[in-house]
Amino acid sequence: MRSFLQHDDSEITIQFYGGEPLIRIPLLEKIMDELPGIKHWSIQTNMINLHKLKPKYLRRLSSILASVDGRESITDANRGEGVYSKVLENCKLARKNGFTGDLVARMAVSEVADIYEEVTHLANLRSPGFNHIHWQLDSQWDDDPKARWKDFNYWVNNSYNPGITQLVQWWLENMQEGKIIGLVPFIPVMKSILDDSPSPLRCGAGLDSFAINPNGSISVCPISPEFAFSIVGDIQTSTPKSIRNSMKVTEPCPSCNIFGLCGGRCLFINQTKLWGAEAFKKVCGTVEYMVSELKAIKIEVQSLVEKGIIAKTEFDYPRFNNGCEIIP
Ligand code: SF4
Repeated sequence: MRSFLQHDDSEITIQFYGGEPLIRIPLLEKIMDELPGIKHWSIQTNMINLHKLKPKYLRRLSSILASVDGRESITDANRGEGVYSKVLENCKLARKNGFTGDLVARMAVSEVADIYEEVTHLANLRSPGFNHIHWQLDSQWDDDPKARWKDFNYWVNNSYNPGITQLVQWWLENMQEGKIIGLVPFIPVMKSILDDSPSPLRCGAGLDSFAINPNGSISVCPISPEFAFSIVGDIQTSTPKSIRNSMKVTEPCPSCNIFGLCGGRCLFINQTKLWGAEAFKKVCGTVEYMVSELKAIKIEVQSLVEKGIIAKTEFDYPRFNNGCEIIP
């Protein structure tokens, strides 16, 4: 891996991802010890073993994406009893042990979630205080929508989209008080709206973000090592240059009206469409809805920037690819 990365002349971020990366802490520490010149280290973790990571490694992390889904009952419904309190306990301990980086609450949003309640709950916590909240819909990871959803359409129309409206309004009200709440899906999309500048696929999968799998193969995304389409090289014979921009999202994204703002949402889903084309479009409906709600406050946000109530630079997030997909 060292020799593969030596050929990369860009600023390198390495994110530990799984499964669960903290079940192999000695390997993680060895990698951090042996790879020189890495600009940012990041981890996406369920937080259960974070207390076992030595503070000297913890302090080198630029960001921690902590899996927590909102209120205690919701997190524990998704992840098991006691998980919420363990995550929060280890977040507090990370701060106590000197972690000063970006602490991101990384939510999986399922049918039990009320997006407004879950996000505001996490954003309002003070100890630990999360710097950012990110969420992704628990959709299209498997073949059968019915396996995990009773009624996805109903939930989108009656819970999720109305919750997004509430969240956008709450976000705006806080901006009017000079505070930008760190809602990851909103910030970079609002920046693109303000600047009228299109974005490529925001997570960078297949473009400048790749997963190195345990066997040395390289896939466009860490969730798809077992999908043949996803493998674009290996660390023995490929170079960073040879895999850069090796896969882009295909239709329907490039023809979509909001392609420049969405960027394509998720390369894996764009390629697999595990729920089928029709359900794919329904999930896109949530992106269209969020984008339209954000566009609706553009003038007010612009005015707050012009009056100096909020700084435009606060929309420059993430400063490096920290593994947040951005589009939920
Ligand atoms: S909304 Fe859907 S179709 Fe449009 S760019 Fe995003 S993922 Fe692609």
